This record gives sequence, C-alpha cells and structure tokens, in this order.
Amino acid sequence: MPDRTVPADASGIEQERIAVLNDRRRQKGDYVLYWMQQSQRAHWNHALEFAVSRANKIQQPLVVLFAVTDQFPEANWRHYTFMLEGLFHTAKDLEKRGIKFILRKGDPARTALELGETASEIICDKGYTRIQRQWRQSVAENAVCPVFCVESDAVVPVETVSGKAEYAARTLRPKILKLLDRFIRPATEIRLQHPATGLPITGMDLPDPETIPDHLNIDRSVRPVTAFYKGGTSEALSRFDEFLTHRIKRYTRNSNQPQTDDTSQMSPYLHFGQISPVYLAWKVRTTKGLDSDIQTAFIEELIVRRELAVNFVYFTPDYDSYACLPQWAARTLDEHRHDKRDPIYTMAELEKSSTHDPYWNAAMDEMKFTGFMHNYMRMYWGKKILEWSKDPETAFQTALTLNNKYFLDGRDPNSFAGVAWIFGRHDRAWKERDVFGKVRYMNAAGLERKCDINGYVKKVAQRKHIADTE
Ligand SMILES: Cc1cc2nc3c(=O)[nH]c(=O)nc-3n(C[C@H](O)[C@H](O)[C@H](O)COP(=O)(O)OP(=O)(O)OC[C@H]3O[C@@H](n4cnc5c(N)ncnc54)[C@H](O)[C@@H]3O)c2cc1C
Repeated sequence: MPDRTVPADASGIEQERIAVLNDRRRQKGDYVLYWMQQSQRAHWNHALEFAVSRANKIQQPLVVLFAVTDQFPEANWRHYTFMLEGLFHTAKDLEKRGIKFILRKGDPARTALELGETASEIICDKGYTRIQRQWRQSVAENAVCPVFCVESDAVVPVETVSGKAEYAARTLRPKILKLLDRFIRPATEIRLQHPATGLPITGMDLPDPETIPDHLNIDRSVRPVTAFYKGGTSEALSRFDEFLTHRIKRYTRNSNQPQTDDTSQMSPYLHFGQISPVYLAWKVRTTKGLDSDIQTAFIEELIVRRELAVNFVYFTPDYDSYACLPQWAARTLDEHRHDKRDPIYTMAELEKSSTHDPYWNAAMDEMKFTGFMHNYMRMYWGKKILEWSKDPETAFQTALTLNNKYFLDGRDPNSFAGVAWIFGRHDRAWKERDVFGKVRYMNAAGLERKCDINGYVKKVAQRKHIADTE
C-alpha cells in the first residue's frame, strides 16, 4: 500500500493544511527543498514552517527555491515588478532566519524537479488555479522523493470547507464560519537547526526591478505602478497597520464610497502571497477596541468572499470561460442576446477610456494607471462592459482580459469569480430587463445617488497626473 500518511510535525500546523502528493520513499538527499510558488513570504507561511520542521527532523539543511518563468499566462511588466520587489525582501527575511534562498529562471515544475533530484523531500505550497495545480501535479508525479503540499493562502483549507462548488456566499458562509476558531491561529516560527552554508547550489541574483525586462522576455506594454504600490511583506504590513489604526473604523460606512480609500488594499499582497490571510484575520480579531460589526464585515470579505472565489476556481474546471455561468444566468443572457445595445464599444475603445461615461472612464483609468480599483467601481465597470459589448460572451472575455492585464491583483481566483459575478455567478435573479435579462444591473444614476462619484473622478484624475509625471 502506498504510504500517504501525513507526518506528525513539530510546527503545530493543522493536519488539514498538509497533503502528501505522492508515495515515494524519502531518499538520502543533501537537503529538504521548499519550492516556494504561491506563498511568497518568510513569515506566517505554513509551508515554510513545515519545511523547517522536516529539515530539523531529518537533520538536514533547508533550501528555498523560487523559479521565475517568463511564460506565466497574462503576466506583464507590472506584475513581475511587484512580485520581484516582494521576493527581494522575502530573500532577505529568509537570510535573517538562516535559510538559503535560490532564485532560478525556468519552468517552475521543471526547475523544482531539477533541484529536487538531490533533495530528501520536497515541500510545496498550495495554488488553486489551473497552471498552479498542473505544476504541482507534475512535480508530484516526477519527483524521486516524497512531495508534501501545505496550504497557507486560505484561512480554512479549501477541501475542509466543502467538497463541491458552492452556489453562493450564503451556502459557503455557515460552513466556513464554524471553522474559523480552529484555523485563525498564529503560525509558529521554528528555528532552523542546520544552515545550508557550504551547499554547492547557486541561483541568479534578483534583478533590480527597473531592469526586469532585460532579464525576462515579458510583455512590456503595461508599466509598473510603483508610485502607488510597492511589493513586499513589509509594505503589506505597514499598509495594513495604517489601515487598522486610521481607516478600518470607516470600513462598513464607506464600502460603497469609491471616492474614499477606506479599504485595506491588501488584494495585491494576498495575490502574490506576500501577506498571510490568516495573519490579517488574526490581527483584526485581536485588535482591541474594534467594533464587532466592523470585524464581521472585514472577515466577510477576507474569508467568506475571498474563499468563495477559491472554492469556485478549485471546483469549477472552466472557471475562466463563459461556460462557468449558472444555467439560469446563461439562459436569461441568451434570451436577451438580440436586444438592441447602444452604444457598443470594442475592447480597444474601452481600453482607451473613451466611452461617453466619465465615471466608467475614470474607473478604467484607475485600473490602468494605479493597478487597483475600489470594489464598488469594479462592479460598475464590469456591468457596463456587459451592457456595451456586442454579446455576453464577448463581454465576458473583454472584462477578464482587461482585469487580468491591468490589476496587480489580477489572475487571481478573485479575478475569475469577480468577473463571473458580473454575469450572475454567485448571485440571484433580479427583475428582468433588456440586455441583462435577470442578471443584476447597475447604472450611473445609482452611483450619483449613493456616493460622491464626482469626488471619485477627481481622485482618479489626481492619481493619473502622478502616474504621468513618474
Ligand atoms: C468585476 C470584479 C473584478 C474583480 N477582480 C478582482 C481581482 O482581479 N483580484 C482581486 O483580488 N479581487 C477582485 N475583485 C474583488 C474585490 O473587488 C477586491 O478583492 C477588493 O476590491 C480589493 O480591495 P481591498 O484589498 O482593499 O479589499 P478589502 O475590502 O480591504 O477586503 C480585504 C480582502 O478581502 C477580499 N475581498 C474584498 N472584497 C472582495 C470581494 N467582493 N470578493 C472577493 N474577495 C474580496 C480581498 O482579498 C481583499 O484584499 C473583483 C470584483 C469584481 C466585482
């Protein structure tokens, strides 16, 4: 019988976070390898702590590998800059813990397998999108040693919450909330006992973010947004601290007020695994003096909504195509496919922010020039793409392409779930109307009524000016 027993480890990590991906016997290698991919951080990283505890147990050093590929689907200069800024700091943080960090260029699975040839065990972290799962499967199938996968980028492990794609937040919520006490716990840091000094393993130097396109063959058409967002765990921590100290008190009041900046702006850092969602949840739960309705509202977004997206991508094979829509939504959109659309814009026109709608143009500018957008405007932005495209399938593709091209947090489970929501996924039927059928509608009058939309337009114009003068 293949042995797939999860080893009891010293790190106190919940067993549900750990999976054994193959049934190889431990080989007598020179080190334990942590192939870092999703959880790109040196703290509150369960996969890293598990790897340290395994290395200590078998009295070997630990090597952490990050393989950078220039073939990552839809990634461009903006994304690579943010990611490599983060890795630069992660490498330093690991060094402070006496852990050897190696950066290599190449296909992640192949590179992990190469370095895995002389490893006793391989540990990887968990990713939910198709390519991330394919890489892990390839490593598990082809490695000569055991491969363990440790889930650190969801508060509650995806398969512990549910075994199927959940219908909506209301069906996931009760399942996930009852598990929070068990999973919102600090990840204990373990001291590495055998440093890797002297191991003859080398990698490449981390390129200066300015020179990234000289090192990697990547799409340079989308510029970095360093004036607004710098990558890295310490950036995430100080931004979150500032949010907790000054802005979270207005979180519920301003959740649909895009002229304000009263959300955490953690999504780019969460996307690249530069900050742990468990840390954020723990911090909000343990901060004294926070109103419980604010804690609940933040946990709702950070855990219920975010992990609904994880559940969606994990259990829906075609999560990135129009076919992922629920039947009722696909049917109603189909019934209205011949409704008159006026105006109709192409993707190129939309991308130029040249529609008749100044609010929408501001949203598109915010996305292009800052790499971010307030959730309320993301909803409006997507709904208008559905309204102004020649058919719903084109709208879906346009929204997903632009989302993933410009947002720092694009290409995330949240990207696919967010775009699918525009078209009815995780939502319910509303009053029937042209073009949208029974799918939820939004309009400019609603923005004018509910928020200071002109304040938002002004805010984006100022940020565009900053970006232009960079
Ligand atoms: C059309 C559309 C596209 C979207 N595309 C993306 C995307 O590409 N990447 C992305 O990370 N999010 C996306 N979202 C979800 C959401 O808008 C962002 O996560 C949120 O605006 C990020 O801001 P914040 O970090 O300040 O959030 P906060 O309000 O501070 O919330 C904390 C964290 O909770 C999670 N969260 C917040 N709101 C949502 C939500 N509605 N759904 C799921 N998770 C949420 C995020 O991880 C966020 O960082 C999209 C939503 C829509 C409607």
